[in-house]
Amino acid sequence: MADMMRGRFAPTPSGEMHLGNAWAAFLAWLQVRRAGGSLVLRIEDLDLGRTRPEFYRGIMEDLLWLGLDWDEGPLSGEPGVKGNFGPYRQSRRDELYAAVLTELQAQGLVYPCFCSRADIRAASQAPHGVEGVWRYPGTCRRLSEAEVRARIGRGEKFSSRFFWQLRPELTYTDLVYGLRRLDFAAGDFILRRSDGIYAYPLAVVADDIAMHITHIVRGADLLEATFQQVALYEALDRPLPRFVHVPMVYTPDGKRLAKSQGSVSLKSLRARGVRPEAILGLFAFWAGWLPRPEPAAARDLVGLFKLSTLLKAGVICNPEDL
Ligand code: GLU
Repeated sequence: MADMMRGRFAPTPSGEMHLGNAWAAFLAWLQVRRAGGSLVLRIEDLDLGRTRPEFYRGIMEDLLWLGLDWDEGPLSGEPGVKGNFGPYRQSRRDELYAAVLTELQAQGLVYPCFCSRADIRAASQAPHGVEGVWRYPGTCRRLSEAEVRARIGRGEKFSSRFFWQLRPELTYTDLVYGLRRLDFAAGDFILRRSDGIYAYPLAVVADDIAMHITHIVRGADLLEATFQQVALYEALDRPLPRFVHVPMVYTPDGKRLAKSQGSVSLKSLRARGVRPEAILGLFAFWAGWLPRPEPAAARDLVGLFKLSTLLKAGVICNPEDL
């Protein structure tokens, strides 16, 4: 198994699958099929309040309708799973996350944080340019042990934060976007929320390690978040997987596709009579591997996969073209 490529598609079932999600799944599938590796489907339903089982069932149906199958993960239409690294739903994997948190704690890299969102907003300066990300000012790094004990004793809620000993030269290499340098660090990040839910960076790294993932294909919106994950791999002394971020998909007026936009959901396209081959041919065209969108079955596109020629620019998607 050492040399075998293991990829994964890791959707958050908080809405219907749209063309942007399907595009990332298509590329993850194609890369693995091209290399003769294994694809894992992992359902990222950490926050059960924001995700719904009918969405992940829908995601599985949509993937199979497109012809994108997986080798490990939940089964569509029946209970049970295939694969040896399950459960494949993050909401069932708390034990693993707790063990990884303990491993980080043992190195002194975790501290309790009592700050509310409002506290952080009040204490930090200008917000980051990107969607309301605030730099954590490090308030609770400086608490004494006695103070921590007292506050916990008073029943104050706390999250667990990663003590990020940030190296200014932190970089990683993405197989599409090349050498990435951290340009803004939002500071020590949360590993476990105060409501006990494990946070995405911890869960994703714990899972990708435990599932022996070698290649991570996902949207370019996670290029920055990857730095936190690189920091965790380093702290846990595990080798980095290959990162393959793929261009984001936008509406003609420049907005990122959202799960709330019904017009680009696979379900609505299917209901309109759009064929899966039309969608896959469009994806291969977006990638730059077909001169024009021509209907094609997933397996007929495997031979076209080539990361070095994947276009890097964001994709404009007009669902009316389908
Ligand atoms: N669950 C994330 C999403 O749906 C993807 C995380 C990942 O691929 O690392 O956006």
